[in-house]
Amino acid sequence: MDSPARHRASRQGASSLRTSGPRTSRHGADVIVVGAGIIGLACARELAARGHSVIVLERSRPGNGASYAAAGMLAPLAEVPEAGPFFDACRDSRDQWCTYAPDLAEETGMALDYDTEGTILVDDPAVLSCFRAAATALGEAFEDLDRSTLTAHLPGLAPELESGLLMPAEHRIDNRAVCRALEASLARRGVSVLGGCAVRDIRATQHGSVPGAVVEGDGWRYEADHVVVAAGAWSGEIALADLVGGEGNGSAEAQPTRVRPVRGEMLAYGAVSWPFQGSVRSAHCYAVRRAGGGLLVGATVDEAGFDDRTTPQGQRELLDGIARLFPALVDKPVLASWSGLRPGTPDGLPHVGPLAGRSVWAATGHYRNGILLAPWTAHWLTRALEGDLEARQMLMPFTPERASRTSLACS
Ligand SMILES: Cc1cc2nc3c(=O)[nH]c(=O)nc-3n(C[C@H](O)[C@H](O)[C@H](O)COP(=O)(O)OP(=O)(O)OC[C@H]3O[C@@H](n4cnc5c(N)ncnc54)[C@H](O)[C@@H]3O)c2cc1C
Repeated sequence: MDSPARHRASRQGASSLRTSGPRTSRHGADVIVVGAGIIGLACARELAARGHSVIVLERSRPGNGASYAAAGMLAPLAEVPEAGPFFDACRDSRDQWCTYAPDLAEETGMALDYDTEGTILVDDPAVLSCFRAAATALGEAFEDLDRSTLTAHLPGLAPELESGLLMPAEHRIDNRAVCRALEASLARRGVSVLGGCAVRDIRATQHGSVPGAVVEGDGWRYEADHVVVAAGAWSGEIALADLVGGEGNGSAEAQPTRVRPVRGEMLAYGAVSWPFQGSVRSAHCYAVRRAGGGLLVGATVDEAGFDDRTTPQGQRELLDGIARLFPALVDKPVLASWSGLRPGTPDGLPHVGPLAGRSVWAATGHYRNGILLAPWTAHWLTRALEGDLEARQMLMPFTPERASRTSLACS
């Protein structure tokens, strides 16, 4: 991240360059990305890789929002076990991670703890049979596990859990390490990530026939050809004014995107010595390994506005859930607990696509699957922004406009 002194210089420079001079040099970037969570960072990297000049504006520190709080599961089948565009997007992104993770690790020399051993689901026979059917219908691999195989993988599993399902294509990655690596990749590519820049509003502009956008905060402004709103759960807090017709809704003032915060709490134990390196899921909680043996337990789901503190009830829920899976863990000390705000949308689907004309874009609302969907979002958002028709088509089910067509309430 750039130093505060440099932020100030950049901001003053940007405001003094407001509307004069050639379009591409008056702001120093083709694209401004708002928000440096995994989605904003991944979009910025893809845009830079395709030759765009990019600036990322972040109100606090990169990778510190939901992308820090997450468990890092890359699990399309467990999360979205039904056919449709959302499952297709999740599966496509999971598949992209197979090359995305090694590329990012090689580029930056940073370890990402990308694990492809799979996920074990332990649950009632009825639930297991639903997932078996879903996996078969969707063409996803699975393997039935009996009690002795289960305990060979997971010593200490509760005695009443007699069967499980291995989903070998449900992977995991260290989301915090990914954000750090994305930041390093952006630095190598000359992309500035400016901390301490809370964006207050975005205005679409028109210079002759060329659309653009102005981004404003407290006492500063930037202008670019395109702005990508990737502010996670806070995306709906940024005002979008003076929309310019096109594919936007044409109103004078609107919320950029209907996203609401959905809190999730987690906790972490120190090393467990299980042979199985993947994740474990049940109806009550999930347990996700980390390099070095650590174990994360998650996650609660509740609506508390923008309050991202942990709660005694949430932590109790996690402890009760993990005790049903691994009773002995109850005696182990909890090393850390935290919570984060998922960006939820009214229909549970992300908002990826144009917000106003061709200059303001949304890449937000990924709710429970933003880590999984980062490569997919970056890939298609970048191509759609470049005018690629296949990308526009691909993003149709996720267009932010659907929110105003279907529901105005953000519930
Ligand atoms: C407990 C928990 C567990 C999860 N587990 C998983 C999982 O296993 N797998 C998975 O795929 N997903 C998981 N998720 C979901 C995933 O974390 C999110 O979908 C994803 O991190 C969203 O990324 P983002 O970049 O959109 O948002 P964030 O990471 O929240 O980033 C948004 C950024 O925008 C910045 N910002 C906000 N407002 C402004 C503004 N006005 N100006 C400038 N910057 C601004 C914020 O400071 C923040 O840095 C989990 C989430 C939680 C909470």
